[in-house]
Amino acid sequence: MVTQNFKYCHWCKIKVEEINSRTGQPYSHCAKHRAEKTNIRKKWDSNNRKSIAAKARRYNKNLRSKFFNMYGHKCACSGCSEANIKFMTIDHIQGGGIEHRKESGSNNKMIREAIAKYRPDLYQSLCWNCNCGHSANGGICPHLEE
Ligand SMILES: [Zn+2]
Ligand SMILES: [Zn+2]
Ligand SMILES: [Zn+2]
Repeated sequence: MVTQNFKYCHWCKIKVEEINSRTGQPYSHCAKHRAEKTNIRKKWDSNNRKSIAAKARRYNKNLRSKFFNMYGHKCACSGCSEANIKFMTIDHIQGGGIEHRKESGSNNKMIREAIAKYRPDLYQSLCWNCNCGHSANGGICPHLEE
């Protein structure tokens, strides 16, 4: 068997003599078409990443809307009338939001748990304002502090 020390570019059929140091074989595409192939792959990768991210966003949105359909669209704080779910956060009532999130590994997991079993004693809809106000104010929402 004769080892060929060149190949013909798969795309334009010109002779390719550069050796691919990784395989020890000549490249199967000329320099121009190797670059083109890499570009196509990069583009494909980034499109793919985008669509994965879009899928994750859709999935999260879906989880969130399921949660708010179960636990209510209105902020649980009695001093607050926010009812736009875009402002809503998923609050872990026992104050263990962050700990619980850590323990469950991810926010999604917490939401999935909350959806799998209706536990209004554990979870509630709370708007960003009340959620942040609550933790910044030592556990009581500034709305309720009169
Ligand atoms: Zn070529
Ligand atoms: Zn609120
Ligand atoms: Zn509040």
